[in-house]
Amino acid sequence: MESIIAAKATDISKLERTGAHSHIRGLGLDDKLETRPNSQGMVGQLKARKAAGVIVKVIKQGKISGRAIMMAGAPGTGKTAIAMAMSQELGDVPFTSIAASEVFSLEISKTESLTQAFRRSIGVRIKEESEVIEGEVVEIQIDRSVTGVGPKTGKLTVKTTDMETIYDLGQKMIASLTKEKVMAGDVIQIDKSTGRITRLGRSFTRARDFDATGPDVKFVQCPDGELQTRKEIVHLVSLHEIDVINSRQQGFLALFSGETGEIKSEVREQINQKISEWCEEGKAEIVPGVLFIDEIHMLDMECFSFLNRALEDTMAPVVIMASNRGMSRIRGTNYQSPHGVPIDFLDRLLIISTQAYSEDDIRQILKIRCDEEEVDMTEDALAVLTKVATETSLRYAIHLISTGHLVAQKRQSAKVDVVDIKRVYSLFLDEARSVQYLKDYQDEYMYNEIAPSQGEKM
Ligand code: ATP
Repeated sequence: MESIIAAKATDISKLERTGAHSHIRGLGLDDKLETRPNSQGMVGQLKARKAAGVIVKVIKQGKISGRAIMMAGAPGTGKTAIAMAMSQELGDVPFTSIAASEVFSLEISKTESLTQAFRRSIGVRIKEESEVIEGEVVEIQIDRSVTGVGPKTGKLTVKTTDMETIYDLGQKMIASLTKEKVMAGDVIQIDKSTGRITRLGRSFTRARDFDATGPDVKFVQCPDGELQTRKEIVHLVSLHEIDVINSRQQGFLALFSGETGEIKSEVREQINQKISEWCEEGKAEIVPGVLFIDEIHMLDMECFSFLNRALEDTMAPVVIMASNRGMSRIRGTNYQSPHGVPIDFLDRLLIISTQAYSEDDIRQILKIRCDEEEVDMTEDALAVLTKVATETSLRYAIHLISTGHLVAQKRQSAKVDVVDIKRVYSLFLDEARSVQYLKDYQDEYMYNEIAPSQGEKM
């Protein structure tokens, strides 16, 4: 039976999709913030990683707010990867990531959009005196025949050592269970005052009883004494979530749809006031988190002026920006500036620069990506792929891993070999070859002439 469970567990993990940065688990630094060459999925970029580590340390100490950091470097040099690693290192601190162009939405103004991003990145730790019961779910019976209520509702019976209390929570728990998708073997926490269930994780100790089939979910049972009672619980919510919940226009459902619209400044002012009262009374604590804004050169003067001001607020999060531009035009103006960022704004940033990778770094990153994508590649193929990356780009080479794997599978080989890399290299163009192709066949494309008057407005 255990082997069946193990097999099921692997099946599930195979369904997980690998993202561009899913191999990154941290900055790969030791306790003294010294950089390990290849650790936690991170390779090379030693100086930038160390600088990022110093920043993580001060953020964790909660000593700074309103600092802005700029990650500057050529495309594919790991700016986003380092920002992701910082978020992993920070752990339980709000982290929001946006692309600067998201600010230009038709639904809400630029400043509202930035305000929302800021407030998403500011956490409020609220301490609540409440009795919570914690334990492994052992049995949940939805017994319609007894109760006659329910979806046709049904009554919920959770058999635990503290059954009486939980029984009383009835309806509230049904709603919460459905939302949290609690199943047998889950470790849960039940707030006695609200009936709210939080799923803490999964325990496979009783997996033998696991039976997820059938509409009348029937599971569980805690061995006696497994439930414990705790007295204080702490919630971490973002200021934005509090804004939305308190905005009568939107209501909390907007949190799920994401369509929050503009939130009135009076609502925010009241919330700020309430939170500072709570902080003074020791009921709450502000946790400044991190806002990552990629492609910062896409912001315009109004946005920079907003950021300048917003960063002065004592509640401001740490803002990390990234740009791969050199000297560029500041959006909406005719002025040129480094990274397309106004000089006065640039002056208040801590700048971390990322450098081009050595061939060995690239090989190691590609190797890590192969492991992450569960692709077996021969040493020769990896060497060819490294060469391709140095001559084209790291990103392009990373794309060839999964495509090369498909081609290898087609010729029924478990390992990706040189022939597969060659094949996908010829199938998919890198940027330079694509541009060349475009130049060669320019006349065959539609709309290839853009009159200056129709071009982007300055
Ligand atoms: P751009 O300027 O184009 O946005 P970027 O500097 O943000 O590029 P990333 O997206 O971070 O570059 O890097 C490209 C790919 O290489 C990603 O999959 C990233 O996870 C990986 N990568 C980059 N640097 C490293 C590194 N030092 N260690 C491990 N993986 C890395």
